[in-house]
Amino acid sequence: MNGRDASGCLTPASLDLVARAAPGQAPPELAEHLARCGRCQDRMLSRLRPAGPSSKRRGPPPLWRLVAVAVGLVVLGLLALLLAAARR
Ligand SMILES: [Zn+2]
Repeated sequence: MNGRDASGCLTPASLDLVARAAPGQAPPELAEHLARCGRCQDRMLSRLRPAGPSSKRRGPPPLWRLVAVAVGLVVLGLLALLLAAARR
C-alpha cells in the first residue's frame, strides 16, 4: 500500500496522514502528489475546513484567494522595507 487509490489519488487515510504531519514531515511521495493534483488539494482543503452547507458547492478554483495571498505578501514586503528604513 502506498497511500493511493485506484486513480492514483491519495486515499482519505493518506490525506489524514499529510494533514497531521508536521510541516515538511509528510511522506514525500504523498506531499509531491498533493502539490500537483488539484483534486487532492480540494479534498485536503475541504477536510481542513469544518463541514458546512457550502461544502457541497462546487466551483472554479478561488482566484480571490490567490490574489489575497499575493496582496498579503506584497504588504508584508512593504512593511519589512518600511521597518528597515525606519531603523536607519
Ligand atoms: Zn490526486
